[in-house]
Amino acid sequence: MNQSYPSWLKQRAELTPGRLAIKTDEVDLTFWELYQRVQLQIKQLVALNVKKGEHVGVLMKNSVEMIESIHAIFSIGAVAVLLNNRLTRKEIAWQLSDVQAKHLICHEEFLFQVDEEINVIIVEKLHKKSSLETDYLMEGYKTDQVATIMYTSGTTGHPKGVMQTFGNHWSSSIGSALNLGINSDDRWLLSVPLFHISGLSILFRSVIYGIGIVLFERFNAEKMNRAIMEDGVTIVSVVTTMLNQMLDKLGNEKYPETFRCMLAGGGPVPRGVLEKAIERKIPVFQTYGMTETASQIVTLSPEYSIKKLGSAGKPLFSCQMKIMKDGEDCSAYQEGEILVKGPNITKGYWKRDEATQKAFTEGWFHTGDQGYIDEDGFLFVLDRRSDLIISGGENVYPAEIENVLLSHQAVVDAGVIGIDDEKWGQVPYAFIVSNRTISHDQLLMYCQNNLARYKVPKGITFLDELPRNASNKLLRRKLKEFLK
Ligand code: ATP
Ligand code: MG
Repeated sequence: MNQSYPSWLKQRAELTPGRLAIKTDEVDLTFWELYQRVQLQIKQLVALNVKKGEHVGVLMKNSVEMIESIHAIFSIGAVAVLLNNRLTRKEIAWQLSDVQAKHLICHEEFLFQVDEEINVIIVEKLHKKSSLETDYLMEGYKTDQVATIMYTSGTTGHPKGVMQTFGNHWSSSIGSALNLGINSDDRWLLSVPLFHISGLSILFRSVIYGIGIVLFERFNAEKMNRAIMEDGVTIVSVVTTMLNQMLDKLGNEKYPETFRCMLAGGGPVPRGVLEKAIERKIPVFQTYGMTETASQIVTLSPEYSIKKLGSAGKPLFSCQMKIMKDGEDCSAYQEGEILVKGPNITKGYWKRDEATQKAFTEGWFHTGDQGYIDEDGFLFVLDRRSDLIISGGENVYPAEIENVLLSHQAVVDAGVIGIDDEKWGQVPYAFIVSNRTISHDQLLMYCQNNLARYKVPKGITFLDELPRNASNKLLRRKLKEFLK
C-alpha cells in the first residue's frame, strides 16, 4: 500500500524543536532552526522554478547547505540526485543527462559548463531574501515515491541510477534502530560523503530518530577522535581504513563510556584492527550493504566480531538473505550469489528496465556478490561475482589473494584478476604497488607459503598505481589493460 508520511523535517521540528540537529565547527542548529533555514531555501528554489516531480542534481560537499538543499528538494516534492563530487566533469555530465535533471544545485567550486537546458543554482549565490512571504506548505511523502537517485560506483560497469524511495529510507532507518537502539542524546558523527548512502542514511536517521549530527566536511582521524571525546558523539560511521587511522591516533587513550557504536561498512575489518578496538573497549559493528539496499542490510554485533571473524553478520529485522547457485538454494557453507529481500531495497534502476528485471527473482534482489552462510546463519561475503575466477573448477576469490599480498610489508596496494589459461581455464594474475625493492620471485614465494597452490598468481606486474574509481574502489576490469 502506498501510505503517506508527513514531511519528516517539519514533523521533527514540531515534535522536538529545541534538540540539536546539526553541529559543525561553525554552527549549532536545532531542528527548529534547521526547519526555518529549509523554509527559506524552499522559497528560493520555488522562485527559481524548481517543481514537484523534477530531478535536481546535487553536486555539493558535506555542509549544512547540502543538508538544507536535500530537505528543501524533498519538501517541494522533487527528487534529489546525489552526485559524487570526486567524479570527472564528463562522468557528472553523463549522470545528469542520463537522469534527465532539470536543475543542478552546486557549491561554486564544483561549477562547470553543463547542458543549456539544465538550470544551474549556485548555493552560495542564493539570495538571502525570498520572494514568497508566507511559509511554503511542505509536501508529505509517499512510501513508494522516489526520494533520491544515487548512481552506483560503477565498479563492475557503467554506473546505474538506483531509485531509493521514502519507504526504502524509512525502513532502513527503522531497521538500523531496531538493531542498534536509539538514545535521545545520541549524536552521530557524519564524515563519510553525504552523496553516498553511508552518509545520506545518517541524515534520515537524524530527523526520524530526533538525534543530532556532528558534521564533518571530510575525514580527519584526529578531529574525529576529539569529537568523540568532547562533543558527545555516541555513534560513528566508518570504513576500515578510517577506523585504522583513528585507532592509530588514539594511542592508549580511551573513548568515553557513552560512545556506543563504531559502524564499519564496505568490507570486513581485519583481525589486527578488531583486536586494537577490543583492547580500547570500542564496540565495532560490521555491516554489509549497498546503494540498492539504502544502506546496511546485514550487521555483525561486536560480541561476535572475533568468534565470527570475517563475517558480515545477520540480516536486519525486516530483511532476509539467502545464497543461490544455478537457480538452487544453497545449504550451509555452500558458496553462491547473495540474494536479499526487504522493504529497504530499491524498486529498480532509473530507465534500466532490463537491468531491473534481471536484478530481481520473486522479490529477491541479486546483489552480484558471492558468499556463504555458516551453520549459525552468519553471512560471509567472498567477493563480487563478476570478479570470481574459476580455475580448474575451483572458485578463486581475488579479494583473498589481494589480502595475502597486502599483508606483505613491501606491498602497498594489490589487485588480482583472472587470465585465460589453456590448462586450467583461468588462473589468477596479480598487480601490485610496492614501496621498496622486492623481487617477483620473493613475492610469489610469499604467496606459496600463504595460499593453496591453485590460488598462487601465475604472474605479477608492478605498477605505480592501481586504477580506482571516485569512490576509491579498485577497478579490476581496468587491470586487464595493463597486461603485457
Ligand atoms: P557497482 O554496482 O556500480 O559496481 P558498487 O557495488 O561498488 O558499484 P556500492 O553500492 O557503493 O557500489 O557498493 C556496495 C558493494 O560494496 C557491495 O555490493 C559489496 O560488493 C561491497 N561491500 C559492501 N559491504 C561489504 C562487506 N561488509 N564485505 C564485503 N564487501 C562489501
Ligand atoms: Mg553494486
